[in-house]
Amino acid sequence: MACRTERAKRELIRVVRGAGTGELSVDLRGKSSGRGAYLCADTACLERGLAEGSVARALEATIDEPTRERLRAELASALTQRTT
Ligand SMILES: [Zn+2]
Repeated sequence: MACRTERAKRELIRVVRGAGTGELSVDLRGKSSGRGAYLCADTACLERGLAEGSVARALEATIDEPTRERLRAELASALTQRTT
């Protein structure tokens, strides 16, 4: 858990580091294999996790700026796809 906020699991999104590729991505269905970090489904939580380094620690990965941008974009599109 990269975020300390307690939330129901359905409200969380998972960032996963792909087992083979090492590529980071937002895992919408929570089914991708690999090391994962859970964040609240909002952009502020992602930003905090990136800034504090908790996401990088949870994933045991170094997150460079292009990857950060991609994760932001993937989360943003994931949130707009939610119809709740
Ligand atoms: Zn959070």
